Amino acid sequence: MCPLRRNTLSTHFRNARFITNKSHDFYRFSDAALHWNCYVKWPHQGRLASMYFEVALQRSELTRSQHRKTLMKSPEVLVEYWFEMNEVSVMLRKSGTEIRLHRSRWQAWLDGAWRSECRPELEHNAVSECIPQLRELQLPESNAQT
Ligand SMILES: [Zn+2]
Repeated sequence: MCPLRRNTLSTHFRNARFITNKSHDFYRFSDAALHWNCYVKWPHQGRLASMYFEVALQRSELTRSQHRKTLMKSPEVLVEYWFEMNEVSVMLRKSGTEIRLHRSRWQAWLDGAWRSECRPELEHNAVSECIPQLRELQLPESNAQT
């Protein structure tokens, strides 16, 4: 496996530091970047993705912030709204990825842009499963200061 560091290309799976225990077997995959294709085929992909999702869930529950609002929480997806950037964040358990969208793009994304923008298969399938629920969401008022 290929922990390339500090790579933000969309052809990579990228995550933030979420494991601080250095003896954890996933430690070197935390705060790392992996080729998307390597990541998808990796036997531990599901476990890593799920752990990353759980950490994101806990963080959203433990750290309340006026800058952020949770719009939806399910076993498969966490959707948050970030007021300062007027962005929607869609965090997916299956793929372990977070999709960020400015509110001006939200509707177009829901209406089909997601099909071409999602990374192949894994992320595409994860989004596909939750599109009906995402369509029900109401975004908060936009932040007038930005
Ligand atoms: Zn690789």
